[in-house]
Amino acid sequence: MLNFNLSPELLEIQKKAREFALKEVLPVAAYYDKIGKTPIDILRKAFDIGIINGDIPKKYGGKGHGVLEAVVIVEEIAAACPGIATSVFDNSLGMEPVILSDNETAKEKYLPKIANDFRLISFATSEPTMGSDVSGLRCTATEDGDDYILNGTKYWVTNGGIADYFSIFATVDPKAAHQGICAFLVEKEWDGVTVGKAIPKLGQRASNTCGIHFENVRVPKENMLAGPDKGFILAMRTFSHTRPAIGAFAVGAARSAMEYAIDYAKKRRAFGTKIANFQAIQFKLAEMYQKVETSRLLTWKAAWEADNGIDPTITASISKFYATEAALEVVSEALQIFGGYGYTRMYPIEKLFRDTRLYRIYEGTSEIQRMIVSGHAMAGYQPVMPPLEDLPLHIEKDPSEVNVEEDPDSHAWRCRICGYVHYGEEAPDKCPYCFFPASAFKDTAEADKE
Ligand SMILES: Cc1cc2nc3c(=O)[nH]c(=O)nc-3n(C[C@H](O)[C@H](O)[C@H](O)COP(=O)(O)OP(=O)(O)OC[C@H]3O[C@@H](n4cnc5c(N)ncnc54)[C@H](O)[C@@H]3O)c2cc1C
Repeated sequence: MLNFNLSPELLEIQKKAREFALKEVLPVAAYYDKIGKTPIDILRKAFDIGIINGDIPKKYGGKGHGVLEAVVIVEEIAAACPGIATSVFDNSLGMEPVILSDNETAKEKYLPKIANDFRLISFATSEPTMGSDVSGLRCTATEDGDDYILNGTKYWVTNGGIADYFSIFATVDPKAAHQGICAFLVEKEWDGVTVGKAIPKLGQRASNTCGIHFENVRVPKENMLAGPDKGFILAMRTFSHTRPAIGAFAVGAARSAMEYAIDYAKKRRAFGTKIANFQAIQFKLAEMYQKVETSRLLTWKAAWEADNGIDPTITASISKFYATEAALEVVSEALQIFGGYGYTRMYPIEKLFRDTRLYRIYEGTSEIQRMIVSGHAMAGYQPVMPPLEDLPLHIEKDPSEVNVEEDPDSHAWRCRICGYVHYGEEAPDKCPYCFFPASAFKDTAEADKE
């Protein structure tokens, strides 16, 4: 049975995350944005109250949460600060390749440590010269006895400067593209690992992002999460499970912008009345509300699919690009409602505007999501309607009166080019509308049989 209510357990999780967001995150959000640092003590508190790492399976000491729990939590944290939310959720992104891999040794060694101690793990496919084209990564993994040796640089690594571990994607042969990609769990303290300076950013400045350089880093084979033919798939499966959370970040940020705009519109006066009384403002608020609602539904659906054994790839992509683009529109309109004050750093909209802009870029840009969804629409998706040329479009005759056996002249032929339906025993020599020859006509009786 279809049900859009959150279960009592999920409502409890939402309450806990909301309280944490309002009490711990919101008060420090502007400050950490200004100084451009990740508040590690906030991540630590999130760990202590159990709203980080929830997705570690129970078998390894975790809570065994699904993606639905994650989207409910991150909506609340992102509503208070999108940057801190990115850093809070990053352990889930970093851990997902470990959880999805079939390397039991690595799971047993690392997941309990992450569950019980305060350990951070980052995810890295991107490099200085590639991001969208994961098959084009250049960091190399060379087999050497019981180890692989990593050389290269990963870039844009969220929490890279504060993480203990990394899920690293590298290639055994750059020319082999997808087939060469493998994945490893690497510890920051290993010889040859160098952490770069924090990258200065437009927004989400409370989330650390940096490059990680590997120079002859020896990784034991037992830390391989996916072999060369499986690494690319592992990266894509990871994104299918984590993209709904990016949609949920966007819902949280948009929800806050909408709430601030409603509050401001009810207080600000112009032309002798509150601006909330202008229909132009009311319609903006209605569209914001509509976008927050639709985005949330999409992210919940993607999360639900991931948790119920349905491949969430397409829904995750749709929720990611719909919700992230909708959020940017919502925040932009909220800024408009605030007028000049929206453009200042004294109100929260300016920060939300900068923070929200990132959502269209990381974890697969909007363009990449469109490629995934259009590829599915054109190939994987099973249409319900018949092909155009087979459409039973009898315009001239009532189909119930068409009886080819008794009246051969009622036989219908459809022009595949312009759609014209010709009635007669034979197709016409040429179409009277588009002038294409008889070969352009399809016998609709044949289409019926198919
Ligand atoms: C703050 C931040 C945090 C990040 N965190 C992480 C992280 O933790 N781990 C990680 O691995 N990565 C991370 N990333 C990297 C992020 O995933 C990439 O930036 C993103 O995938 C885009 O890659 P790119 O920047 O190399 O752009 P490019 O791939 O160079 O793309 C440039 C532009 O071209 C477009 N484009 C590319 N290919 C096509 C195509 N075939 N058709 C149409 N348009 C195309 C893109 O959409 C984009 O608009 C982070 C990035 C940022 C900014």
